[in-house]
Amino acid sequence: MTTLATAPRTQTQRTVLRERGQHEVFCGLTGIVWLHRKIQDAFFLVVGSRTCAHLLQSAAGVMIFAEPRFATAVIDERDLAGLADANDELDRVVGELLDRRPDIKLLFLVGSCPSEVIKLDLSRAASRLGERHGPAIRVLSYSGSGIETTFTQGEDACLEALVTAMQPTEKAPPAASGPDQLLVVGALADVVEDQFRRMLEDIGIANVAFLPPRRNSGLPTVGPGTRYLLAQPFLGQTAAALERRGATRIDALFPLGVEGTSAWLHAAARAFGISPDTVERVIRAPAARARAALDKWRSELEGKTIFFFPDSQLEIPLARMLSRELGLVPLEIGTPYLHRDHLEHELALLPASAILSEGQDVDRQLDRCRDAAPDLTVCGLGLANPLEREGFTTKWSIELLFTPIQGFEQAADLAALFARPLDRRTALKV
Ligand code: SF4
Repeated sequence: MTTLATAPRTQTQRTVLRERGQHEVFCGLTGIVWLHRKIQDAFFLVVGSRTCAHLLQSAAGVMIFAEPRFATAVIDERDLAGLADANDELDRVVGELLDRRPDIKLLFLVGSCPSEVIKLDLSRAASRLGERHGPAIRVLSYSGSGIETTFTQGEDACLEALVTAMQPTEKAPPAASGPDQLLVVGALADVVEDQFRRMLEDIGIANVAFLPPRRNSGLPTVGPGTRYLLAQPFLGQTAAALERRGATRIDALFPLGVEGTSAWLHAAARAFGISPDTVERVIRAPAARARAALDKWRSELEGKTIFFFPDSQLEIPLARMLSRELGLVPLEIGTPYLHRDHLEHELALLPASAILSEGQDVDRQLDRCRDAAPDLTVCGLGLANPLEREGFTTKWSIELLFTPIQGFEQAADLAALFARPLDRRTALKV
């Protein structure tokens, strides 16, 4: 099914191609791959099937000599037939796991398609197990199920669960005294987080916290004095949960490229009443370094056409950065979901010539891609190999979640990610 709709705001007025057909995406379990690295004392126990276990093992490339911080409690035929009490089994598995792994301080029970099919209530299981094993161990639950979702929604659901566990800030500041905490929301590589923390502190924002935290004990507080700044564009549920706790969103571009990172930092400073001159003083040198590093890639990428299949929900900020800072020409920018409020500034900066599509009808979109014949196609793993076989040059969108790409120092690395497949194709032709 395909519909055409026009964005209601004048600033972002453009036709959006809406499709509700078959889509080709990974499920939310995939987020465990980067989240378990980020939260260093967390364990992710997927309650799922052997398929779920295989997905995780192949996506995360488990080393047999390492103690992994994720696993799958496999629901077998007895559970499905109702012959065993799945809750008793789960309690036993969790008890054994926590006895064996005293390093675990935060346990996520992660739902899957099979656990949803048998209607296993993991939120009740989490509160029951939390009472049994807390307060030393916090137990939370979320769904990574692949039914009608896309893979970055796993992080959104995980962070939403963390928001429910955040303590309220002790005392709300008087309205006149302004915000008391900046909360940066979205999993970032530690190196990026450190750079952002340093710059935000240099700008003059003293109380900066990050969600997710690196450790369970570092879970920030939240309240009416909290201003939150999204570092990732796929966190709609987390944002709504933060607002229910009294926090206010800072509207900004996402921190990709020099323009996005500068605007993101300026927006934070504005919310704290800090002057643009102060921000410029702090970012002048790193922004200049990033611009110089991007120049090299611009000469290689300028004028190349690019087609985005909907997958990571990073497509819109990426298209903005690649077109404005590297001269790539987006032909179609597909996104699984279009969160207009969070992307309003991004939408206004997209080239008018690009088709913007939301959702997917994969066969129709493949036909459009073949007609457009882009130089570079950004898509999920499931489409990349068949497209390569047809002669297209592809970039796996999932790499954009595994690679540090935000901030000034990473801008050139982001450009290199898009140049590499083109270089590989050229080398193969020689
Ligand atoms: S959660 Fe669903 S889509 Fe994801 S691996 Fe398990 S069965 Fe497959």
